[in-house]
Amino acid sequence: GVQQVVDVHQGLEDTLQIFSHRLKPGIEVQRCYDRDLPQLKAYGSELNQVWTHLIENAIDAMEGNGRLKITTTRTGHSVCVAITDSGRGIPPEIQSRIFESFFTTKPVGEGTGLGLDIVRRIVENRHRGTIALESQPGETRFSVQLPLATLNT
Ligand code: ADP
Ligand code: MG
Repeated sequence: GVQQVVDVHQGLEDTLQIFSHRLKPGIEVQRCYDRDLPQLKAYGSELNQVWTHLIENAIDAMEGNGRLKITTTRTGHSVCVAITDSGRGIPPEIQSRIFESFFTTKPVGEGTGLGLDIVRRIVENRHRGTIALESQPGETRFSVQLPLATLNT
């Protein structure tokens, strides 16, 4: 792929639209978007994969009911996207393993365990960004920080 001018909010909205059938019944979506968020120079379709995996995991964790909050902020020369769900949380003893390939707690056929491995590669290797996790029962947040432009990939 080639880098493009990316509107992060558009990517998030496109992703939410794809999951609307799973969100509508019982999940409240709360958007806290920074109106002045700058556009990125980034790999747009790969970032859409990041939002897809994170939002899908959040929905899975809420089992049909809860609140999905998406926050965007500008921080210096980068943009931060935080995706927070009100689901069951990630036990401390597995938090260090969830980014490994093939690590899943989902039933066979429902999870491949590849989502967060792909997310981490796209964020860190492709964009020189960072991803952070904070989780406790009832609140899990993945915070993705992306530089406004990635020079070397
Ligand atoms: P998969 O979704 O196929 O299981 P992922 O790499 O996307 O694989 O996620 C790995 C594991 O991390 C999940 O099986 C789940 O146990 C945990 N996980 C990821 N996101 C969340 C979340 N938002 N809430 C609770 N658990 C999560
Ligand atoms: Mg997943």
